[in-house]
Amino acid sequence: MDNMEEMIKVLELQPVLQRDVEQLSGGELQRFAIAVACVQKADVYMFDEPSSYLDVKQRLKAASTIRDLLRPDDYVIVVEHDLSVLDYLSDFICVLYGKPSVYGVVTLPASVREGINIFLDGHIPTENLRFREESLQFRIAEAGDEFMVDRTRQFRYPKLEKTLGGFHLSIDPGEFTDSEIIVMMGENGTGKTTFCRMLAGAEQPDSGKKVPKMSISMKPQKITPKFPGTVRELLLKKVRASFLNPQFQTDVYKPLRIDDFIDQEVKHLSGGELQRVAIVLALGQPADIYLIDEPSAYLDSEQRIIAARVIKRFIMHAKKTAFIVEHDFMMATYLADRVIVFEGEPSVEARATPPQSLLTGCNQFLKNLNVTFRRDPNTFRPRINKLNSQLDQEQKLSGNYFFLEGE
Ligand code: ADP
Ligand code: MG
Repeated sequence: MDNMEEMIKVLELQPVLQRDVEQLSGGELQRFAIAVACVQKADVYMFDEPSSYLDVKQRLKAASTIRDLLRPDDYVIVVEHDLSVLDYLSDFICVLYGKPSVYGVVTLPASVREGINIFLDGHIPTENLRFREESLQFRIAEAGDEFMVDRTRQFRYPKLEKTLGGFHLSIDPGEFTDSEIIVMMGENGTGKTTFCRMLAGAEQPDSGKKVPKMSISMKPQKITPKFPGTVRELLLKKVRASFLNPQFQTDVYKPLRIDDFIDQEVKHLSGGELQRVAIVLALGQPADIYLIDEPSAYLDSEQRIIAARVIKRFIMHAKKTAFIVEHDFMMATYLADRVIVFEGEPSVEARATPPQSLLTGCNQFLKNLNVTFRRDPNTFRPRINKLNSQLDQEQKLSGNYFFLEGE
């Protein structure tokens, strides 16, 4: 317990110390649970999905807190679905594969880079064993190359201001087009959901100017299943035309594997199943603009990559626009054509930039976090540099927090 004060400080628990545990938000509860494990005296520490509910900054803090626990004779075992966090956190990686709800196999420990590559490849070279037919590609350019981008429509929104209780949000004016995905990056409590709700018309800005009327479909961050019936009944009721459309079936419905639980009661679905249904409901609704708030929550790494690919394909094929809030950095950079960065003091005062390029946006976002990313030379996936490593120092000196070759 001698590190309790420190844990309260680094995990930012001071403001909630007097609260009932039952009243904590998802992110607060997660940080509290991590702190409770970290203050124990033990030989082995285990963390099951420590990044859930946390924003990027909190994920990195949680990861470095967990790493700092390690004394020479200790073991730390972590289950983690955010591959950037996993990469940053680990010395060795075991991949688990198998058939969900039937069996699972754990590989021998591999180095971090090799372990993540085995997982993405679906192939264990030392055993020459393939556990997934296709490899999961994570190249940022990939999706862009696949589509002939032909942008014809332009949308604009004015400068927007919003006060909610003690929180003030100021949004710089911006424009966007069709066939474009804009990812919102920023700490929890900086107004990302509020901005989505203003775009959707569910929340009015303070100032006179209005958001132009646009047809919008939204996947909310909080999913509360109230529907009394099965998934099939829900889809037939809400998005019948898309659900029966062969293209939608191929692009969205099948890859998300809704068939696995199509005849189950909506109320009995797990978090990950509900998330996939919510994505289908949002994309199945005809609209010009899709607002998708935290699609990776409750999904495992593989489902995240599939969901990201589904969303990207759908938006590009249908020539729509998506605004996506996403804290899994690999998923965010894969999805984004451009980014909006939210900055400021969470829950108090925040500002959102206009949509900017992936490079400048990530640069600004990562600079705030004091973190640099490099590229894996083979798979091109973004990897966090260890703090104060040579690359980290070099990139900070040259201002390249988010490194893209050839740019
Ligand atoms: P994010 O999605 O970036 O985490 P939100 O837009 O959900 O942020 O919230 C931004 C801030 O606004 C938070 O401090 C939140 O507590 C506050 N807030 C949101 N909705 C309301 C409301 N209806 N009344 C008062 N405060 C609110
Ligand atoms: Mg939010």
